[in-house]
Amino acid sequence: MSNENNNEYNEVRDAHDGQSGHGAKRPYNRQKNYKYKPQHRNSYNRKQTSDRKTTQDKEKNGRTVPFKNPVKSASRKPKKPASKLKIIPLGGLEQIGMNITAFEYEDSIVVVDCGLAFPEDDMLGIDLVIPDVTYLKENISKVKGFVITHGHEDHIGALPYVLKDVNVPVYSTKLTIALIANKLKEHNMTRTTKLKEVKHGQVINLGDFSIEFIKTNHSIQDASALAIYSPAGIVVHTGDFKVDYTPVFGDAIDLQRFAEIGRKGVLALMCDSTNAERSGFTMSERTVGHVFDNLFNEYKTNRIIIATFASNVDRVQQIINTAYKYDRKVVVEGRSMVNIIGKASELGYINIPEGTLIDIELLRNYPPEKTVIITTGSQGESMAALSRMAAAIHRKVSICPGDLVVFSSNPIPGNEKSVSKVINELCVLGAEVIYQDTHVSGHACQEEIKLMYSLVRPKYSIPVHGEFRHRKAQAEIAESLGIPKDNIFMIQSGDVLELSEESALVTGQVTHGGILVDGLGVGDVGNIVLRDRQNLSQDGIIIVVLTLERYTNNLLAGPDIVSRGFVYIRESENLMIEAQQVVEDAVFDCLDHKISDWSKIKNEIRDSLSNYLWKKMKRSPMILPIIMEVE
Ligand SMILES: [Zn+2]
Ligand SMILES: [Zn+2]
Repeated sequence: MSNENNNEYNEVRDAHDGQSGHGAKRPYNRQKNYKYKPQHRNSYNRKQTSDRKTTQDKEKNGRTVPFKNPVKSASRKPKKPASKLKIIPLGGLEQIGMNITAFEYEDSIVVVDCGLAFPEDDMLGIDLVIPDVTYLKENISKVKGFVITHGHEDHIGALPYVLKDVNVPVYSTKLTIALIANKLKEHNMTRTTKLKEVKHGQVINLGDFSIEFIKTNHSIQDASALAIYSPAGIVVHTGDFKVDYTPVFGDAIDLQRFAEIGRKGVLALMCDSTNAERSGFTMSERTVGHVFDNLFNEYKTNRIIIATFASNVDRVQQIINTAYKYDRKVVVEGRSMVNIIGKASELGYINIPEGTLIDIELLRNYPPEKTVIITTGSQGESMAALSRMAAAIHRKVSICPGDLVVFSSNPIPGNEKSVSKVINELCVLGAEVIYQDTHVSGHACQEEIKLMYSLVRPKYSIPVHGEFRHRKAQAEIAESLGIPKDNIFMIQSGDVLELSEESALVTGQVTHGGILVDGLGVGDVGNIVLRDRQNLSQDGIIIVVLTLERYTNNLLAGPDIVSRGFVYIRESENLMIEAQQVVEDAVFDCLDHKISDWSKIKNEIRDSLSNYLWKKMKRSPMILPIIMEVE
């Protein structure tokens, strides 16, 4: 997978500065058999108002409300103790990425999202990481479907892999389904998978669950929050969201609906934590449009190149609008961006005035100050279009003095170095580079999170989508809003959180973790292979080859030494001759002592050579002795 696919994923991490908060005490470690004392909904002092007519809801927008207030129905039917709702996150709580959560009630499981994570620095050669779904496989008969909140990689990226084992229908909104379909096509899985399009406001029934899709705003269009109705109560899952009152495309987040569901009585809120450490509000996407307008006005005589996230269609729309206003032609460059913009345009999520978009081949027909290039590579990804332009290896675009390059993105922790490298290269080529105030986040800041809590008014709070520190920040917000500490759950991936109106408790753990994907291999690279790769990457490898005669064990050829990534042989001849001598001595020593066990001989070779090289070089390459036998 090329680096430029990191785009969508990176966007979600844009609030991050590394460092997860390990070692903190898990706050739910309370005494055994803890029961939450039944009481009125925490500090909101709210009267149960579910009888404010659910029928009212039915009338609106064709919405149906599948369950009445869970509190009431539970008290009306005392005959059998109601089952509990189990919430089982299989990923996404230790990092941003690999979001996947199972909701289980009796014989029904629905799974919200199925994302991937990109590899850590020490996962050499790994393309991506997908969640371990052993639990779903073991309970396959219960699994009713995947419900996807939006089309970012950390929410849909693992679907092609997971669907191979857990082949159930996938439900989501139009653009999200289109992006998933694109993915499945690449994996040749279009025929075997059922994709079902859902509209905002629509409710789908999956086993004991009903799930309502609620319109939200995010850095990709068609994002949804979910109201998950179960006989044990309602859970609201926000997905990734922000509150944008003036979105570029479509409607603002359906705050009214959150309030209506809040009135019914919500058992738990699972809310996006990405920006929970940031105070205030996230600015509207539209504010970036004003910045573009100022820039285009100021740089009327320059060519403009803007790098942004491939999936941020609204951003691209605003650049196109500004270009149109200033009578410039637009080129879109970078495979992932061309793909997504193509799909978005086909489905009507972007409006491109006729004649504005031109093929990159036609660029030379227009004066530079009449063109704009929108490109991938805002994170300095080495293979992305902007990095190739900066390195002067892009076949169609050469950076010239006078070019204005705009990074419409946040520098993401971990990517600063590569971004900085690209900026330097661009400056050397004579371009002017702007990277401030040209981006807004797609995630809710503290005040928006407070708004969400105030509308939904959950009994329990389960912060999601974030490293420990981000979720902790949300937990503090929840507490400040009056949710009792004991009702806030800082759970971990694999935890089984059992919820009902009376109690909430982590009752166990299921198999979970990351499975490494390298090329076509899924899960075949484990810790041992990774350790080898790390060793190889640090000190290289030395291969020792020798030939012994069968029965007599006479040394017939070698030992010969071949190395890679260790030293430059031509400049280290003496070292290699001595090394060869060391190996020879070790072999003869073995043979003199009548040692015929090859593994012992190999160990001797390894030990003596390794000692020698350490003494001489303070390096420990991987040593691989190979003994051949001839008659
Ligand atoms: Zn996300
Ligand atoms: Zn997202």
